[in-house]
Amino acid sequence: MVQFKDYFLGNAVPKDRRVADTQKCLRVSGKHNDLEEVGIDTYHHTMFEMLGNWSFGDYFKKEAIAWAWELLTEVYQLPKERLYVSVFGGDKVEKLPIDEDAISLWKPIVGEDRIIHGSKKDNFWEMGDTGPCGPCSEIHIDLRSESEIKKKPGKELVNADHPQVIEIWNLVFIQFNRLSSGELKPLPEKHVDTGMGFERLCVAIQGKHSNYDTDVFSPLLDFISKSGKCVYGKNEKKDIAMRVIADHIRAVSFAIADGQLPSNTGAGYVIRRILRRAVRYGYSYLDFSEPFMFKLVPLLAGQFKDVFPELQKQEEYVGRVIHEEEASFLRTLEKGLKRLDLLETKDKIIQGEVAFELYDTFGFPFDLTSLIARERGLSVDEAGFLEEMEKQKVRSKADAVKETGDWVEVKKTNSPRFVGYDHLEIRSHLVKYREIKQKNKTFYQVVFEQTPFYGESGGQVGDTGTLSDGSSAIRIFDTKKENDLIVHYCEKLPSKLDGELLLSVDESKRRLTVSNHSATHLLHAALRTVLGKHVEQKGSLVNDQLLRFDFSHFAAMTSEEMTKVEKIVNEKIRLNIARGEQREMPIAKAKE
Ligand code: ATP
Ligand code: MG
Repeated sequence: MVQFKDYFLGNAVPKDRRVADTQKCLRVSGKHNDLEEVGIDTYHHTMFEMLGNWSFGDYFKKEAIAWAWELLTEVYQLPKERLYVSVFGGDKVEKLPIDEDAISLWKPIVGEDRIIHGSKKDNFWEMGDTGPCGPCSEIHIDLRSESEIKKKPGKELVNADHPQVIEIWNLVFIQFNRLSSGELKPLPEKHVDTGMGFERLCVAIQGKHSNYDTDVFSPLLDFISKSGKCVYGKNEKKDIAMRVIADHIRAVSFAIADGQLPSNTGAGYVIRRILRRAVRYGYSYLDFSEPFMFKLVPLLAGQFKDVFPELQKQEEYVGRVIHEEEASFLRTLEKGLKRLDLLETKDKIIQGEVAFELYDTFGFPFDLTSLIARERGLSVDEAGFLEEMEKQKVRSKADAVKETGDWVEVKKTNSPRFVGYDHLEIRSHLVKYREIKQKNKTFYQVVFEQTPFYGESGGQVGDTGTLSDGSSAIRIFDTKKENDLIVHYCEKLPSKLDGELLLSVDESKRRLTVSNHSATHLLHAALRTVLGKHVEQKGSLVNDQLLRFDFSHFAAMTSEEMTKVEKIVNEKIRLNIARGEQREMPIAKAKE
């Protein structure tokens, strides 16, 4: 829902008020982190498909509930007597009442005895510490056998971590904004955001007991089983390892296809951690001592060719990246595991320094060390590990903690406008601002009614320049895009917030940056001519000094190829092609 935040908050108006979709969803770090469960249980994945329907100020509880029930029981024909629903049961601390509306809407459909009153933990949905949120109503299904159902009613097992009584769909009624103070502020309009796990829906429709028994996962398990000469369902440890590989290959492959390469920091490290977790499971339990995961990519790409074709398009590239990652981790994995074998522990605790050494020298992510420790009945001194990390960070100067204040509205307006293709200096008004504290410095993020400042996007850095209220000039040291907003990073606020302001972009910097941006397009075209049409942009950085262009190709370029590319780009620059410009046309026509 992150990309829709501005619609919920009323900052932007959506083109369509109703949307339905499927999205690749990763829950492997941050507030929603399922990584520890994955493979060990049979219904949490690192990457799953979240099916959803959305209402931006359009329909609300009544329709969302009725339609969800209709889809599940009439279209998909799920047995009604196996479904349960939960509703928000209220919360004293938040001073929120029980969701009577949801109860009265569900009652005629499922009957009172199938409605569970849930706690804030299960039935009040929040994405992060701040932002849009609200009460929710979940739909659970009981997949157990008839005889087990007779022994214990499913209702008692809802939200109790039973692998066969699972939540399949969550209907979230977005009606509040959580402010940084913790206060809940009602939103101007009410919205719906539902999420249904596709793999869990498959389990229900196909009448299986585990997600891994559905046809989403069984081809992958068959392949692993043939390659590893192991049979699924015979040995719990091997089963877990096979499930982990079948699951993790999905997260890793799609992340790479979407442009996130494994690396040592940030999102890239999340991907590396997942891959290494799988490699270690394969190595320890299935005797995979050579790269193996990459062999699953073509199978996966084939499975998804009609849903997420981006994987098949880059199949070879994704396979090579994974192969390279596997090979490099396998080089140190064995030594690291030996280090752990020989380790003498005090009080069954692995010291922080050892965990750090494993991380730094052998490439063991911390969660991998704790997983291995857990298997051996040990624990890891996490505080000690973090201390060692902190010491190392002094070297790499990590970002200090950032404190973000709430937006303060100065002027009501429609969506702020970007006019920077035609003007580099204009008069405008301040719409809203917020204070940011970072590394003992305070600065302001400011939005104007219209602006000539280009917000960082498509790899091009944001504009810099000044803001003047007639008496003094204030530096704007960066501009970024946040969904539909163009946010200016200002050292100070103008003395008069509601007066007219002069916004001026640093012109020479913009011109140089624009030239470098055009050059990335020339480079991209030349690469496709020389290397082939499979070359896709994977990222880029463009500023007034240089450009960097990341692209997918399965081998290092030869110097001959580089010379060819250089020649084409230089020729095009020297042609000094006049720019034709047509701003409004259908996208298909523009691409033509
Ligand atoms: P659970 O309690 O089972 O972890 P949740 O409360 O975290 O589920 P939501 O945040 O409501 O789930 O997400 C909506 C839907 O997405 C769930 O009903 C479920 O079908 C699916 N889902 C959530 N997490 C996962 C996961 N890790 N793997 C597969 N499907 C998931
Ligand atoms: Mg969860």
